[in-house]
Amino acid sequence: MTEPTTAAGTSDSAVTWREDFSRVLSPVFGAPQLDLVRGQGSYVWDAAGKQYLDLLAGIAVNALGHCHPAWVAAVSEQAATLGHISNFFTSPPQIALAEKIHEILDLPEGSAVFLSNSGAEANEAALKMARRAGGGGRPIIIAVDGAFHGRTMGALALTAKAAYREPFAPGVPGVVHVPYGDVDALAAAVNDTTAAVFIEPIQGEVGVRRHPAGYLRAARDLTTAAGSLLVLDEVQTGVGRTGSWFAHQDPVIGEGVVPDIITSAKGLGGGMPIGATITVGEANTALLSPGQHGTTFGGNPIACAAALAVLTTIDTEGLLDHARRLGDQLVTELEQIPGVSAVSGAGLLLGVELSGEHPDAKAVAARALEAGFIVNPVTPERLRLAPPLTITHEEIAPFLTALPGLLRPED
Ligand SMILES: *Cc1c(COP(=O)(O)O)cnc(C)c1O
Repeated sequence: MTEPTTAAGTSDSAVTWREDFSRVLSPVFGAPQLDLVRGQGSYVWDAAGKQYLDLLAGIAVNALGHCHPAWVAAVSEQAATLGHISNFFTSPPQIALAEKIHEILDLPEGSAVFLSNSGAEANEAALKMARRAGGGGRPIIIAVDGAFHGRTMGALALTAKAAYREPFAPGVPGVVHVPYGDVDALAAAVNDTTAAVFIEPIQGEVGVRRHPAGYLRAARDLTTAAGSLLVLDEVQTGVGRTGSWFAHQDPVIGEGVVPDIITSAKGLGGGMPIGATITVGEANTALLSPGQHGTTFGGNPIACAAALAVLTTIDTEGLLDHARRLGDQLVTELEQIPGVSAVSGAGLLLGVELSGEHPDAKAVAARALEAGFIVNPVTPERLRLAPPLTITHEEIAPFLTALPGLLRPED
């Protein structure tokens, strides 16, 4: 891929954008680290023209990297054809996208896709479905310690971190968090009062953490026995991120489990906002009847055209294989770097655990940014890498070379 020429930025703009931001935008995200003006492939550029290798991809969103020609063409052609129509109507990209989702998940007859605009919204729909499980009236929904399911009130109730939830109490009632990785605790918690169990196949926000072997299988068996739903939140792990279309389709990660509901977002639109709540089988699709849920923007033609371009390009460019192979190679290489104690995750969703007595992932990420690499200090001990699925080893190599210096391991 040819690199575009550097855009010149004035030093003036570099000084004022922080002030401009804080004058007019919500402080909720904290101060932005960069003022980005352009992207191409695996790189983005700031207003001063400095180039960064994007090893986070908008938090596992830019599956095809920045401004992939297929994605740009799909979005611009759809914008020039039909942009928005409401859900009184449908459009060709909406149907084509849903058909493609059925195909990649090999969904049984009666399965259905509900399209929305974000991960939280995809989980909100799943929550409403859970309230209807078993004919309704089952009060308990179970989530796992360490889980992240979003920030809206319903999704927030499922999110484990107390600091996110407590300022907004009282939250949505009935949610119980079970200890991470503990099959016995899950078995003790799941019964005929349980509407649903929500699980991320790999927990992203807590540092890219897999469940112990047997956990997903146990969750499936327990929910089936209790007549409860198993909801897999694949907002971060889906759409090729781990080297399968969805992480649970990998026999090792998914343990052969077929969920009742799958939620997707992040990588699905490749940068356009879109979420999906996928019900597996007719009984699950029937949980919500016409009129019981809705969204104005969900399933709009531009977002659907973008998502369709993402899924099609993952196919045509062989990106599932690429993500798996490159991910395996990166694990091997990262584990050899002094200062790295372990690497977790799968495919191109990796958690790099730092060794030493006082690991400071935040400081490492700040030094990386200075050196032109975007990584995410997901916890104090771990860096999260979620680069575009299109990234090459050649593009990542400078980061691997720089990492020992960025880690500054004690000599
Ligand atoms: C990011 C994320 C969400 C929330 O998605 P938003 O689009 O930010 O609302 C939900 N679940 C998981 C697993 C996520 O990683």
